[in-house]
Amino acid sequence: MIYLDYQATTPLAPEARDAMMRWLEGPDGMGFANPHSPHRPGRQAAAAVDLARERVAALFPSGGKIYFTGSATEALNTVIRGCEPVRAGAGIAVSAIEHAAVWDTARSLSNSFHELAVDTEGLVDPEPAIAEGVGLVAVMQVNNEIGTIQPVAQIARAAKAAGALFLCDAVQAAGRIPIAHADAIAISAHKLHGPKGIGALWLRDGIELAPLITGGAQEGGIRSGTLSPALCAGFGAAAKLAQERMQADADHIEALWAKALDLFDGWTVNGSADARWHGNLNVRRDGLDVARLMSDVRNVAFSAGSACASGSGKPSRVLQAIGLSDKHVKNSIRLGFGRYTGLDDLEEAAAAINAAASAQGI
Ligand code: PLP
Repeated sequence: MIYLDYQATTPLAPEARDAMMRWLEGPDGMGFANPHSPHRPGRQAAAAVDLARERVAALFPSGGKIYFTGSATEALNTVIRGCEPVRAGAGIAVSAIEHAAVWDTARSLSNSFHELAVDTEGLVDPEPAIAEGVGLVAVMQVNNEIGTIQPVAQIARAAKAAGALFLCDAVQAAGRIPIAHADAIAISAHKLHGPKGIGALWLRDGIELAPLITGGAQEGGIRSGTLSPALCAGFGAAAKLAQERMQADADHIEALWAKALDLFDGWTVNGSADARWHGNLNVRRDGLDVARLMSDVRNVAFSAGSACASGSGKPSRVLQAIGLSDKHVKNSIRLGFGRYTGLDDLEEAAAAINAAASAQGI
């Protein structure tokens, strides 16, 4: 099986797995200890959490703190529902191509909802008009469906000038490119070769949030609940590795991208080719029956759109936002590749996909 779905999730790095095993087993059989307990095994587990926290924090800009959460979805919800301006009734402005964790959450609240349009490349205006009364602006750094890299530094400045907080979903950016500056940032371990079930929320010093989850007041009261040392250690190891390998991974992905463009010559790239994370190839071919393609190409794991949206039966909101017709949206597939993808994997996958597409007579 060839795995080309790196935006849905990434393979667990062996280094992250090894770091986790220590806290699932433990040489003294005490790896299961509660990191919030004051006894020796508890303090050892707490030290592992502290080390992981340092390693994850090193991915972020200075001037803030991180809080572990159960996912990026939880981190994003915590900010959107818990930040002071939203609780005071201010409006929320989000880009039209935000992940559902942001878009649906903002939409579900009674606060006024404003959408920041994107152009046909998938880019938000770097100086967006922010409506009067908006107190929170959310724009993602890298899009999960079409890989667009947004001009977040400028958008953050525009939000600040409008007196709003700026939230950045950096899930698809973290570990790949330096994370942008914002007031609040969310990332997820499983998108950077760490384990599922853990994310991180970074908050600029001075930003206050009402917690979404209350209880034992762990994580500075922002997110109650016993931390998993194994998940934290896996996240920390993955973050450290991503930091060390950022340039090598990026170089490898550029080589894969160049190869992929060659192999999928004759397909149309959805979204910007330049302002894009090149580990994402979202392409379409007129007349393509994607469901049939996916059932014919069984040895390649790829996506018919966002993995988060697929299964919902709804056409991709992101592809619609960049102006694709419903027909073109349905003709699109997403291939995601990265650190562990070989050039030969891409060649083999492209041969299978192109053969299956040609068999449809298109
Ligand atoms: N934001 C983006 C851009 C994503 O790609 C995802 C996952 O698909 C999420 C948020 C949600 O992350 P998690 O799986 O940690 O809840």
